[in-house]
Amino acid sequence: MSVKENKILNTAITRRDFLKFTGLGTVGAAAASWLLPGCQSKDIKIFETADGMIIHEAARCTGCLICESTCSVGNDGKASQITARIKVSQNLAYGPDGVRGDWVHGKGENGNFTMTADTCRQCEQPACALACPQGAIFQQEATGAREVDPEKCVGCGTCTRACPWGIPTLDPETNISTKCILCHGYTACVKDCPTGALSYVSWEDALKNYKKHFQV
Ligand code: SF4
Ligand code: SF4
Repeated sequence: MSVKENKILNTAITRRDFLKFTGLGTVGAAAASWLLPGCQSKDIKIFETADGMIIHEAARCTGCLICESTCSVGNDGKASQITARIKVSQNLAYGPDGVRGDWVHGKGENGNFTMTADTCRQCEQPACALACPQGAIFQQEATGAREVDPEKCVGCGTCTRACPWGIPTLDPETNISTKCILCHGYTACVKDCPTGALSYVSWEDALKNYKKHFQV
């Protein structure tokens, strides 16, 4: 694991520590106006990357799926909800007890009908890479993204089953596993989101914003 990946701005703080310390480490974190100016929502979802975090704000998401099209066209040359590395859907997961009276307070766990996104967390110990029998998933040094080597992938789907969120997806046309590679640092889904529901904040900016806001 590189120093860049493990620490933030050459301090002893790891990305996990930072998220935990600032209360951002949970899905549906409390409003983080210090992190995202103008963010009023209590329903944000954070996906860590080596250089920063991709943030999805449910209240701004209309479910237009432009992020999914941008992603699959950019990476695969075709619009495909199957291979899109970011998936957006309406939260209809009612859970084992069905619809509950307090669903509106469920923050996504109990089918609160808000829009929700999912993508790769670029794990520090990636279960997908550890499980791959071909050693086909590697860390791209420049971005820290976990990438699939299409020359090595045999399409067995072990990575999908190993990932706690089932993120890697086999392209049905090529039988090669696909997953978010952070667009080599470009994060096209964020740039093309028409409502600003997706944001990218570098660790550097996050730390700066935090210190400024809390005057530490
Ligand atoms: S595909 Fe899953 S296990 Fe692999 S790095 Fe992404 S979130 Fe982690
Ligand atoms: S589908 Fe490809 S990347 Fe995934 S575990 Fe199998 S060989 Fe590895």
